[in-house]
Amino acid sequence: MSIAEITPPTTTELAPKPAADLKIVSDATCTFCGCVCDDMELTVEGNKITKAKNACVLGKAWFFNHHIEDRPEATIEGRPVSYEEAFDAAADILLSARYPVTYGLSDTTCEAQRVAVAITDWIGGTVDTTTSVCHGPSGMAFQAVGEVTCSLGEIKNRADFLIFWGGNPAESHPRHFTKYSLMPEGEFVPNGRKDRTAVLIDVRKTKSAKAADYFLQIKPRSDFELAWALRALAKGLTVEPSIEEVTGIPLKTLEEVMGGMKRAKFGAILFGMGLTMTRGKHINSEAVLSLARDMNQHTRWVAKPMRGHGNVTGADNVVSWTTGYPFGVNLNRGYPRFNPGEWTTSDLLARGEADAALIVASDPMSNFSQPARDHLRRIKSIVLDPKLSETAKVATVAFTTSVYGINTAGTVYRMDDVPIPLRPAFDSPFKSDFEVLKAIETRIRQRQLAGQSR
Ligand code: SF4
Repeated sequence: MSIAEITPPTTTELAPKPAADLKIVSDATCTFCGCVCDDMELTVEGNKITKAKNACVLGKAWFFNHHIEDRPEATIEGRPVSYEEAFDAAADILLSARYPVTYGLSDTTCEAQRVAVAITDWIGGTVDTTTSVCHGPSGMAFQAVGEVTCSLGEIKNRADFLIFWGGNPAESHPRHFTKYSLMPEGEFVPNGRKDRTAVLIDVRKTKSAKAADYFLQIKPRSDFELAWALRALAKGLTVEPSIEEVTGIPLKTLEEVMGGMKRAKFGAILFGMGLTMTRGKHINSEAVLSLARDMNQHTRWVAKPMRGHGNVTGADNVVSWTTGYPFGVNLNRGYPRFNPGEWTTSDLLARGEADAALIVASDPMSNFSQPARDHLRRIKSIVLDPKLSETAKVATVAFTTSVYGINTAGTVYRMDDVPIPLRPAFDSPFKSDFEVLKAIETRIRQRQLAGQSR
């Protein structure tokens, strides 16, 4: 061929060619925090997510740090084994236990959560979730006083008065302000931030304070008193100026805030663990939920907890559907009993009560008290986790599982109880939590039906 016969390449031919295994996953869901943003556009190259359009800094870290672990699919006492061998060992442990506890569940799909509850029911154990160490007090308060609620979509489209109480969404839920609450333009708040008044109540000036119109820096451990002072003002009762000595907030400021709350068309209180895990715990949540209820004498108000883990709200929902209670449920008598403190995992482990544990997608060895960790180390445990967590390191049987939302499909609940489907980015060689739990459940049922039962 002569040089004259060579056709110059076209612009299209000169453009960089995408790798053969490059793909875009639209409308994917980030499961890192309770916002569960479902507008991700992921660029996936092989087994790596290289771009995550719309993700915040936490979401990007979640997607970019995910890679397939170089770990065996399962281990028994640290020895690599097949899934099949590990399923049998897990079923043996759970069937021979007298006081098994199932814990975690907030970072997995609802489908897996449901099987975990079923296993606990078959073996007469206790099922508990990470709610017991975060918004457990709110779960108790819902049962006591109810919840005036709405979706985040309603807050986006309607809320013109927002109170963030005991939380720091700017850092813990970075897209909450921009996607759901403070900034977005909504149907009845067309000017976005300009149409909304924001109050932040906290014991310290966090990054979120900058975004608020009123920052009420309350004295530590005075949330209950502040909530009741606001309840009194909502009902038109007299509040003594001495409330400032108790809460650190002048009565005049409280009256001003209450005036704005009454004039609002739609108000929302969004509360975090700074309220639920301080002195008063569930009675703090009760006071704030009751305040939202009281405000409906004047205008529309709601109160919602700001949930942390990606599917902790799903865990509450699934455990509630199946047992009637949200966490800390004992099934040993063949019917559910709810008693936080008695059947919450950190407490029963610290008292040395459980003799086996099934831990799903959680790392209690990194955050429980020392007595609870010591006991967990002593008893037989089965751990499902994509990573070699501190809890997986001490497990009797450890399963390496795929990551929900990145490798496996399923359903998660956003913090406002709205179910969201997952669109995974790429396959994993490891089984999902659902598949592992289902296989364990099958073995347990086969053995129980064959007469080897508790
Ligand atoms: S706000 Fe939460 S769910 Fe949304 S992208 Fe950030 S980490 Fe993910």
